[in-house]
Amino acid sequence: MPAKKTAPPPPKKIALIAHDHRKRDLIEWARFNRGTLSKHALFATGTTGRVLAEELGLPVTRLQSGPIGGDQQIGAMIVDGAIDFLIFFWDPLEPQPHDPDVKALLRLAVVWNIPAACNRATADYMISSPLMSSDYERLVPNYEGYLARTIAPVREANAPAEEPPATEEPVGESKPA
Ligand code: PGA
Repeated sequence: MPAKKTAPPPPKKIALIAHDHRKRDLIEWARFNRGTLSKHALFATGTTGRVLAEELGLPVTRLQSGPIGGDQQIGAMIVDGAIDFLIFFWDPLEPQPHDPDVKALLRLAVVWNIPAACNRATADYMISSPLMSSDYERLVPNYEGYLARTIAPVREANAPAEEPPATEEPVGESKPA
């Protein structure tokens, strides 16, 4: 079955996240694009959201801080269709305590085919796209085939093992007397 299309109208629901060493980058980018961002609904992990709200003077819906579950909350919103667009300035030079969550969030952006920018150049291209203000029809992959896949039945622990299929005796071989 083909992918379904969805065309969220503006305002788009934009998630913004930056690791600590990338927060300055995100704030500068957001300040420069404040006018465009003000037309959309903004969501962010806890600390990113606090500094963005202070810097921009715009409403930002704040979730938990990233390392204590905020990235996973954003991921769940992507699954629910509640986020249209992800700006995630993750730090390529520092290991994070929540690296598995970071990977999971980036993975879900691909699973659900939402636009995701991980650096300023990509974010610049995305926010200046004419698609930001139009009815872009995003293809949402159809996972019905995957969900309907057959899973082999699980044998009870004390159930007798299945007999191996009977094999025919080889023809023409001599048997010991
Ligand atoms: P923070 O989380 O906005 O609470 O700092 C960001 C992250 O590390 O994912």
